This record gives sequence, structure tokens and C-alpha cells, in this order.
Amino acid sequence: MNITILTIFPEMFDALNHSILKRAQDNNLINIKIVNIRDFSKDTNKRCDDYSFGGGAGMIMTPQPLFDAINSVKTKNSYVIYMSPKGKTLTQCKVEKIFNLKKDLIIVCGHYEGIDERIIDLCVDEEISIGDYVLTGGELPAMILIDCISRFIPNVLGNSLTTMEESFNENLLEYPQYTRPRNFNGKEVPEILLSGNHKEIAKWRLDKSIEITKTRRPDLYEKYLNKK
Ligand code: SAM
Repeated sequence: MNITILTIFPEMFDALNHSILKRAQDNNLINIKIVNIRDFSKDTNKRCDDYSFGGGAGMIMTPQPLFDAINSVKTKNSYVIYMSPKGKTLTQCKVEKIFNLKKDLIIVCGHYEGIDERIIDLCVDEEISIGDYVLTGGELPAMILIDCISRFIPNVLGNSLTTMEESFNENLLEYPQYTRPRNFNGKEVPEILLSGNHKEIAKWRLDKSIEITKTRRPDLYEKYLNKK
């Protein structure tokens, strides 16, 4: 999968060069390219921001460097996402939909008070928010999106069943998980998980998933009931 990130802070993406994402890149399962928007600025000082027409606090990212940066990497198979608090909220279902587009992703990271609206009109296919709060820039949201998507790419995770048995699959949160030792500080692993009875273990896990979802996320539980 090809992902191109447009940012004025390329160094922030060093964080992607670790752990599972590093291995995925080393194995060519995911190809991440980082483009510095500033390199495209025609301003003598390479500025990429300016005051807001109409007034108001904060600066706006100017359209020219963004437009040229996007068009330098855009192809027929590109899907341009702008990370924005005004976008559709990212959910596991949304991540899967984006992955299933089978497109080359271009992810635009905003800064300051955001980007000139005309870039959204001219170049952006979809705006995505990572939640109802405002961050200083789109870099962390972009990394979150990339991390979630990468988990759907075959062979990125060791076990292909992993994404199918996790929270949000079938609108349920995941059941409790345990590993060794059997007794930790006086707390025992539930007996059923040591029984070897796979049918009963599956039933226990489903019951626990339902119980946890019902108490912690009634909204999700409602969706689970409606889809059953
Ligand atoms: N003035 C904007 C507003 O009120 O909607 C917020 C701009 S924010 C300070 C700067 C940049 O951070 C945005 O352009 C966007 O790229 C990114 N950003 C902030 N919060 C985000 C969120 N919840 N989801 C995705 N991107 C976000």
C-alpha cells in the first residue's frame, strides 16, 4: 500500500520507523513517503501561512504550496484525505472502508488554524477527524490513521485473525485477556480459559464481550443488537 504524507513537520514521522510499522515498511508491505509542503512554497522565505481574511486569531496555511505539493504526488489512483476536526470521525469501520478503496492515500496534515478552504474544494476527497477535540497539527492524527490502516494489510500483523477478534468487530468490545502466570498477586486466571474446551471458551468470551460493551458503550451495544 502506498501512503504519501504532506506536512510542514516531516521529522515528526520518525515515529513510524519503529516496531510493526517499521517491519511492514522493511518488507515492502507499506510504502510511506513524506513530502515537505514548505519545499513547494514560492514565497522568498518559504512561508506556508498567512493571516485569515475577515480577521480572527491565528494563521491559515496558504493554498499555493499545498496545491503544488498535492499535485506533485497525485495520480489517477490517489485518494486525498485531509486530517481535520471537521471531518467524519474515524472508526474501525471507517478505517476498513478506506483500506478497501485500494487507493494510494495522500494524507494532508494541517497546522495553525487549518488550511485554505479552496484546497479542500479543489483537491480533497475526504476530511477525517480522529475525535471531538482539537490538536495543534494533523501529524498525530495522520499517524493514527496510518497505524490503523496498516493493521488491515495482509501479513503486517503476525496472525490474520487478530483484526477479526478485536474490539469493534461486530460492534463489540474485546473480552478480557490473560497470560502467564496463572496467579498474579493473588488474582487467578478464570478457570474456563485453562479448561481446553474451545467451545466453552468461545462462549465465555462472547458473554464477556457483550457484558463489557453493554456497560461501557451502550451506544455500541445498541448497534450490536440491531445487526444481530
Ligand atoms: N481551526 C480548526 C478548527 O477549529 O476546526 C482547528 C485547526 S487545528 C489547531 C490545526 C490542524 O490540526 C488542523 O488543520 C488539522 O489538520 C489538525 N487537527 C486538529 N484536530 C484534529 C482532529 N481532531 N482530527 C484530525 N485532525 C486534527
